[in-house]
Amino acid sequence: MAIKVAINGYGTIGKRVADAVDAQNDMEIVGVTKTRPAFGCDLAVRKNYPIYCTYDDAEKISAFAESGYECHGGLSDLLAVADIVVDCSPGKVGAANKAKYEAAGIKWIFQGGEKHAMTERSYTSSANHMENVNVNGTRVVSCNTTGLSRTLVPLYNHCGQLKVECTMIRRAADPGDSNKGPINAIKPVLQVPSHHGPDVMTVKPEIEINSMAVAVPTTLMHCHSIVATLPEGHGLTTNSVIEMWKNSPRIIVMNGAQTGISTTAEVMEFARDIGRKWGDLHEIFVWEDGVKLDGNTLYYFQAIHQESDVIPENVDAIRALMGTESDWKASVAKTDAAISRYNNL
Ligand code: NAD
Repeated sequence: MAIKVAINGYGTIGKRVADAVDAQNDMEIVGVTKTRPAFGCDLAVRKNYPIYCTYDDAEKISAFAESGYECHGGLSDLLAVADIVVDCSPGKVGAANKAKYEAAGIKWIFQGGEKHAMTERSYTSSANHMENVNVNGTRVVSCNTTGLSRTLVPLYNHCGQLKVECTMIRRAADPGDSNKGPINAIKPVLQVPSHHGPDVMTVKPEIEINSMAVAVPTTLMHCHSIVATLPEGHGLTTNSVIEMWKNSPRIIVMNGAQTGISTTAEVMEFARDIGRKWGDLHEIFVWEDGVKLDGNTLYYFQAIHQESDVIPENVDAIRALMGTESDWKASVAKTDAAISRYNNL
């Protein structure tokens, strides 16, 4: 029987998770929530996803019908027909929502805007799928942490030890945001280290990692500049690291000079050309000609499509929590095959 999935918060991440879930043959969307009858409701109607109100308030629920949308009830009604809820609300409202999920007796998944301390468990597919099998709730870590985990976990698995310093060059806002910035400044995050690197240790505590971050006026992607110290006797070369990543799930390695994909603008154009919905790129993009292993020091750059790298991870996390697939690679293969049948041109 298909796993019944609710999406609480049908915004940037929520609408993408809904479609990725809808593409799978072992799960179905039983409803999505909107706070009010705004334009995102039209998308839910087109997709045939039942709309529920974020609140149980009768007046707020009836506002949907007044705007011409069928609303099936409040959040409690949705939780009553679901096996698991993927919370895609804006960061920091999680604690109040978690209490509702626990009261409803269903499993829950939060996103990276929430703190590990609130969820007490975090998730990325490659780092700790098995530890999340059959648990009641988890947090899919942020887009940056997911990106770091994708390339660092295979390296750690090979080396058995890893020390990392990295700088996150962060997009200022998502393309659909009109109230964030900077629009003409470079803004260092004046909290050192930034939370991004240490957040990797919530899914892979064995990786020693620190980060700094700076926000720049772009909406397309984040870019990471990474320096990793490998242990003596690592046995790797620049080429074997590149091969390792090419053989790891959800990493694309391309040569910038040869392909002409030398900035995040071309990476995003490439994603649009291959027909990904919303122009998304679920994979982490590594520039082959930006990778250099010098002795024990590995240098590389990677680009992260902030709105989408976490999407397939949410699907794998659902399988982990519901206990239907304990092998992370099997889940990843299933998730990605279903998404690609649904997605590509
Ligand atoms: P968003 O603002 O685009 O969407 C959030 C949605 O939740 C909106 O539709 C909003 O109306 C709704 N909402 C508001 N209050 C709510 C509540 N109390 N309960 C339920 N829903 C509520 O935000 P987003 O970018 O989709 O971010 C969602 C989560 O995903 C955050 O934790 C964020 O940190 C994380 N995340 C975002 C990105 C990104 O680039 N946008 C990447 C990775 C992770």
